[in-house]
Amino acid sequence: MKNADLKEEEIIKCFHCGNETPMKKVGEYSWGSRDLDYSEFDFLFQYELFACPVCHKVTLRQTYSDESMINYHTNDQFNFYDEQNILFPLSSIESNFVPQKIKAAYEAALKTKGIDKNICLMALRRTLELMLKDQGATKWGLKDKIEEVAARGLLPDTLKEASSFAKVLGDTAAHDKELEIDSYDIESIAEFIRYIIEYLYIIPSKISAYKKVLDGKSHESE
Ligand SMILES: [Zn+2]
Repeated sequence: MKNADLKEEEIIKCFHCGNETPMKKVGEYSWGSRDLDYSEFDFLFQYELFACPVCHKVTLRQTYSDESMINYHTNDQFNFYDEQNILFPLSSIESNFVPQKIKAAYEAALKTKGIDKNICLMALRRTLELMLKDQGATKWGLKDKIEEVAARGLLPDTLKEASSFAKVLGDTAAHDKELEIDSYDIESIAEFIRYIIEYLYIIPSKISAYKKVLDGKSHESE
């Protein structure tokens, strides 16, 4: 893949401001099997930086392709299939251990971040509520659900407090209360909800996966 083949402007969704707009490519870097002295198979990592003309923030996209990812086209020709991911800003959760419903709710909330602050806060609040239900909360109100899950030792005090912020701001957004909400509030609550997702789902799954690796090693060395 040569640089000349790449388009210099592409329509990309900006997860900072929410606009889907043509963005100019302002930087790129790639590396792959061609850069190694020896490699058994062909692969390429490509990084592209795009600048948003609306909010001026940047998006970093990774494209990975290799010879095993062959994608057949209708005209019998085949190409490398590539896998594209937005590395920055964080707009998705890369984990199969997060229940699909929760992952979808969180990603939907992030998509509205720059479009409507109130909708975003309500969607973040909803993500929290789904997680608490998934953890077995049965109480009616969100405040009680937080207490219930925390009382069972599933949420440490810090995350319990973070949950209450999400509740307060989510309620404010839903009921049009007199509390000035700015983008710092949105960024903070989105970050806190992410911490809770990591604490409840991602960290335990990573630790148990590593435990298996370590167990395997100690068996080998016996
Ligand atoms: Zn933007």
